[in-house]
Formats: sequence, structure tokens, C-alpha cells
Amino acid sequence: MTQTDSPVTIGQPWPHTARRAARGELEIGGVLLPALADRYGTPLYVYDEQTLRASARAFRQSFAAVYPRSRVVYAAKAFLTTALVRIMRKEGLGLDVVSGGELFVGLRGGMPAAEIAFHGNNKSARELGEALAAGVGKIVIDNDYEISLLEALTANRGQPAPAMIRLNPGVDVHTHKKISTGMADSKFGFPIADGQAETALCRIQSLPKLRLVGLHAHVGSQLFDAEATVAAIDALLDFAATMRDRHEFVLEHLSPGGGFGIAYTDADKPPTIATWAGLIGAAVKEGCAARSLPEPMLTVEPGRAMVGPAGVALYTVGAKKELPDVRTYVSVDGGMADNIRPSLYDARYSAAIANRDDPAASNEVTIAGRYCESGDLLIERIALPELREGDLLAIPAAGAYTLAMASNYNFAPRPAVVLVNDGQARVIRRRETYEDLVQFDIDE
Ligand SMILES: *Cc1c(COP(=O)(O)O)cnc(C)c1O
Repeated sequence: MTQTDSPVTIGQPWPHTARRAARGELEIGGVLLPALADRYGTPLYVYDEQTLRASARAFRQSFAAVYPRSRVVYAAKAFLTTALVRIMRKEGLGLDVVSGGELFVGLRGGMPAAEIAFHGNNKSARELGEALAAGVGKIVIDNDYEISLLEALTANRGQPAPAMIRLNPGVDVHTHKKISTGMADSKFGFPIADGQAETALCRIQSLPKLRLVGLHAHVGSQLFDAEATVAAIDALLDFAATMRDRHEFVLEHLSPGGGFGIAYTDADKPPTIATWAGLIGAAVKEGCAARSLPEPMLTVEPGRAMVGPAGVALYTVGAKKELPDVRTYVSVDGGMADNIRPSLYDARYSAAIANRDDPAASNEVTIAGRYCESGDLLIERIALPELREGDLLAIPAAGAYTLAMASNYNFAPRPAVVLVNDGQARVIRRRETYEDLVQFDIDE
């Protein structure tokens, strides 16, 4: 990132269009970040439309190339706005939702109900009713209570509702414990090993108003190899073959979930999407051939990998505190209320100065948030050039599980979200105001 006469392209973990402009400022989507900060304030979340669309195309094309009967469905929980739903739809993706709220926003954003799958380990009767009324493409059943709720809710239906079963394949993944979901001890899915999955399958098959079309698993997030996903595919296909033999089950749809890891710093080297597609496509093809199963429709569900690399968080530097022989804290105007991942999962981020050139790193500092928690640290001990009050600090790979988990802690209005493309910026979610903070209060 040295200064030159022409713009310098910056690689991972920055969005595809990130450059250092000739005067040293960071630019994304043809828009200078300092200009965005002036116009919309900070903290600000900036999404690069080109990176978003490139991820969508990479997923669709890579999977279609190795396994033509495939679909890509965006996992909405990573980040959701109506404008984002419209982009995903235009790129030919479906949508995964895990709540009535996400379903509402997905439909409002123009996603056809038939392209939506409804997940979650404790869907309420109300939410299931909403999903059935909307006509979602699939309800992914997680537990026995849900089967009972669906039995009651579908009793007076005409057509049966399409459903899949979420299975717990009992595989261990190499990722943070809090984002592992497929090991034996998990709150998600029916365990295959102890027979609960088979019992559930028979129960669903016996219900006339549910049509069981497939099997689902999702083993974890921020995965850097396909080992666990391929093991889950094998476990699902084994189960499918056994259920075919015992209960005439027909596997029409198969989903090994999402979990595709991304780079948060330049030290992270995740597999490419084409590599993932090759390994997953081959596992399904070869696994089906080995068990004489017809090849099902394959659905992959990227969340983080779709939106993470496209988003950059922009903060203004404020107070600085030097503790001799301890460390130097540099505080910014956001933190755990807009990005709780460092506090929640020890997530590691990188950063760069956005308003001027970024010469060789010189100082080790800790980037602190502004919230009243000692644990509100965005980046512990990172080498950065000397930061001054008023500097703009940009954090890349901030598009997933940041604003999606945002809160109003300390009554902070949530940041605005701007979409940039071809030199244009468009606000897709306005900044919250103080008035927004009291809009739900009742004081009479
Ligand atoms: C969260 C989730 C995903 C997406 O996970 P990422 O790690 O963000 O790709 C996919 N499928 C299901 C069922 C999920 O719960």
C-alpha cells in the first residue's frame, strides 16, 4: 500500500474495487471513503455492489459447472435489507430465513416465497403459520415439537407443504465452538446416530399434509476446509440410502448448508469458491453413485461468503490513551453495538487509515470501541501508522454478522448503510436518530 501516481489496487481482505487513490485516500466502488464519511457520518457501513454480485456469480457458476442441478440460496441472517434481497434475487439466488422477521423482510424485498427456505431450532406456531400462509418453498424441520405444530397447522390445507429434515450428522469441524453446529452435542437437528432422525422421518412421512422432499445439514461457519462438509454429505447420503431401503424415502433435495470461510486479515487463506464447489459437487456425485441414489437437487447456502467481503466499516478516531509498558488504546466512534464479533468469538480483524496514505505500520495499538464494557475492543494489538484524532479508520470484511447482530447498547443509534458502485453511493438503510430511540416507549 505505498503511494504512487496511479491508484493502487488492494487485495484480500478488501472489496474488489478497493484502491488507494493518488492522494492516499481509500476508495471503494469509485467513491472516496472520506467523502462518504463527510456526507453520511460515521460509523458507516459501506457495501461494494460489484463484490456482492461477483460473489453471487462465483457461487452460481462454480456450482453449476460441476453439478448442474444446483441452487444457491443466500442465508439472510448474515445481513439483510430489502435492497440486498433485490440484488440477490437479480443474481438468481434464493433466500434462507430463520425467523418471521427475516421472512417478512425477504418477501418485502421481492423474493418469491417459493424461493425461500425457513430454518431454525425453535420456530413458533405463529412463524410457522406465516411461512405456510406465504407458501415458502421449504420448511426445514428441526425437532419433534415442530412436527407437532406443523401437523396441527396443516390439518385443513389442500396441498401438502414441502418440508426437509435438518439432521445432526455428528461431525466435528475446525472452527470456533460458538459457530460449530454439526457435532453430536448440538441444539440443531435430529441426531442420525441414535435413531431420532429415522423416527422423525417416519412421522413426517405419515402426515398427509407434509411432503418430505429432502435432507439438510449445516455443520458450522467460517470453515477453511471441506472435510466436515464432505463428511456431512456422506452421512446424509448414507441416511438417505438406508431410509430408501427401509421406508421408500426418495431424496429429491440435498443441502449441506453454508459455512464457507472468508479472509478477515491478509494472513487468512480460505479456499476459493470454485474449490468448494469442486469438492462438494464431487462428494454428492460420487456418494450417490456409490449408493445407487439418483442425483438430487443440490442447494448451498452461503451467508458470510456472500456479504462479508463486500462490507467495510468506517469509523472516526477519537480519544487515545497511552498506558506506558501496558498498551495504547485508540478509541473509535463505534464498537460492540455495531460489531460484536470480536467480543463474542474473539474474531480478528485488520484495519487501515482511510483518509490519507498508509505507510509502513509503525505502532502497536488496540482499537477500542466507545461502549461501556472493558471487553469492547474491536482489534487488540494491531500494528498501524500513528493515528490522530479525526482520522478515518476502515475495517474490511465487515459485511457479515456485524449489523445483523447490532444493538442500541448505550442508546447508540445504529449506523447507516451505503451501497457503492461505479462512482455512485446509495443509502440502503438510513442512520437511526435519537427519535428512533424513544419510538417504542410508552409514557402515560
Ligand atoms: C447460518 C446458516 C447458513 C450460513 O452460514 P455461513 O457460515 O454464513 O455461510 C446456512 N445455512 C443455515 C441453515 C444456517 O443456519
